[in-house]
Amino acid sequence: MTGTILWFKRDLRVADHPALARAALIGAPVLPLYIVEPGLWAQSDADARHYGFLRESLVDLKDRLDRIGLALVIRVGEAVTVLEDLRARHAITRLISHEETGNGWTYARDRAMAAWARGQGVVWEDLPQSGVVRRLRGRDGWAAARDRVMAGPVAVPGRVTMLADVASSALPGAAALGLGADAPQRQRGGRAAGLARLDTFLTERGQDYRRAMSSPLQGATACSRLSPHLAFGTISAREAEQAAARRAVQVRGTGDGWPGSVQSFRARLAWRDHFMQKLEDEPALEWRCLHPAYEGLRPAIPDAARLAAWQKGETGLPFVDACMRSLAATGWLNFRMRSMVMAVASYHLWLDWRATGAHLARMFTDYEPGIHWSQVQMQSGTTGINTLRIYNPVKQGMDQDPTGAFTRAWVPELAAVPDVLLQEPWRWDGAGGLPYPAPIVDVKQAAAWARDRVWAVRQGDGFRAQAAQVVRKHASRKDAKGRFRRDPVAVKQAKKDSRQMGFDF
Ligand SMILES: Cc1cc2nc3c(=O)[nH]c(=O)nc-3n(C[C@H](O)[C@H](O)[C@H](O)COP(=O)(O)OP(=O)(O)OC[C@H]3O[C@@H](n4cnc5c(N)ncnc54)[C@H](O)[C@@H]3O)c2cc1C
Repeated sequence: MTGTILWFKRDLRVADHPALARAALIGAPVLPLYIVEPGLWAQSDADARHYGFLRESLVDLKDRLDRIGLALVIRVGEAVTVLEDLRARHAITRLISHEETGNGWTYARDRAMAAWARGQGVVWEDLPQSGVVRRLRGRDGWAAARDRVMAGPVAVPGRVTMLADVASSALPGAAALGLGADAPQRQRGGRAAGLARLDTFLTERGQDYRRAMSSPLQGATACSRLSPHLAFGTISAREAEQAAARRAVQVRGTGDGWPGSVQSFRARLAWRDHFMQKLEDEPALEWRCLHPAYEGLRPAIPDAARLAAWQKGETGLPFVDACMRSLAATGWLNFRMRSMVMAVASYHLWLDWRATGAHLARMFTDYEPGIHWSQVQMQSGTTGINTLRIYNPVKQGMDQDPTGAFTRAWVPELAAVPDVLLQEPWRWDGAGGLPYPAPIVDVKQAAAWARDRVWAVRQGDGFRAQAAQVVRKHASRKDAKGRFRRDPVAVKQAKKDSRQMGFDF
């Protein structure tokens, strides 16, 4: 009897799993497989924190598969080699998985996989699991189509039988894959942890979301913290959206913060698909400026001393350093802080976004290539279609960390500095004796210098015509406005949100 391989990638769950539901429908014995691919873990965007989260999620997935009579098979190796070995031994004729909008490496691997499947006569069904559309013709109507997917029924599998006698390997340790140390305060993986996050966010933590999301201290609790779960697929985006939609009905008209918070959260889930669609449509945005006129603007080989200072949190700019150190330890920053550290790297320190973006990719437990590279380019001013956001890190520190508690927690060298000068310790009389570096740039001068250079590019011949092409391909459309027009609270919030994000809604 022939069998079906159910290939898990970034969809580590059993609930709302269209590929599992499809495998059950076909009825052939199923081999649930996860492949640990050394080539993937050798990429410059990979880190032990991703692998740690993945391992915990696989343990949880194994338990849930056991409950429906399936035993997860782990294999280590390059995907095509592993698949071919299983095909030859177990008469596999079908491969079912979910589409992945991943990095350049997974894109190339998927093409190799498609060639292998064609060559061996294996039917490969690669199904969507979010609002991202493969081979999209254009953005018109995309938002409405995405909303239909999100409102659609969650996938429920029928009965499945396990393909007998398939050996599984042990999960390798991080060191065996050449990975370093994990983040000491990283979020835990696994669906159980994700479900708890979703539930506590929608019933307890999220009430103040809209007001507190940009605070480095409060944001850690007030934000959903679902991002790594959505990235590794322990929870589907549809499950999160539908839970939020149910909550929106419960809290309608309460006027206590909940309605706006739930609306803002749902808007962000929509942005998730919106940004991932960009990489799906243009894989090169991981390594090429979206607007070609910005290519070569910053030195291709970044200034090593500046890059290292930024990565280690030793720029002499207290709030930037606190964010970078906190990120290294926890694997997370809120959106505003991510934007600021990226903008400081790109404008004030004038570092190429490819090097700094790869560092942040390694540091974010929730690294999601589609969101990440789109945002990295947006915050670096290389899309040609977004408002330039050159955050002043001193002002951000004062605004977002008014008590200084966050900065002091991560930059203890500043203990002696009085509160009023915490974000500008170089202005303090005792600065010379501090075990803390002087700022590596003058914030105001560096920002003005960078702004002039970016604006000069915008004045160049043909800039507008090329920007119009980027808009046609990637910008959100009127139907997104129409979607919210029915609900005045949502319209107001959506406009505010998009201003904060720095893009035209
Ligand atoms: C330079 C930069 C890089 C980023 N890289 C990533 C990344 O690799 N992975 C990632 O998940 N997010 C990324 N973001 C977006 C955002 O900062 C995180 O999604 C968010 O901080 C995660 O915390 P949360 O789950 O508590 O978010 P919440 O505020 O609770 O939002 C809920 C979910 O909506 C989605 N979301 C939220 N904000 C955005 C946004 N601005 N754009 C697209 N989707 C969004 C995420 O899936 C998130 O989990 C990046 C932002 C910037 C500025």
